[in-house]
Amino acid sequence: MRRRTAARGNTNMNEKLDRISWDAPNNRWIVTGGGKLAAKYFVQWSSVLSRYTCTCPDWRYRRMGDIQDCKHIHCIVEILQYGSKEELEAIGVKK
Ligand SMILES: [Zn+2]
Repeated sequence: MRRRTAARGNTNMNEKLDRISWDAPNNRWIVTGGGKLAAKYFVQWSSVLSRYTCTCPDWRYRRMGDIQDCKHIHCIVEILQYGSKEELEAIGVKK
């Protein structure tokens, strides 16, 4: 039987934290894709667009024109929203 945790928006925070890091000099997030291809994508806030942008193909080709964000952006937003001070500091963010 599978156990579900409903805590903090139901996701595995540690797993997500392992996959992202804050690239302070470039003012962007580095997100390592899960799965077989460990590709790296960059998530960055765009003040022009007033939204996050991502370099993954999913975002660039399919989502650019609409209001949806890709899973990498969702990951960042969720961590910023639910991550504890310690968790955020561990990836280089000062809350
Ligand atoms: Zn993406």
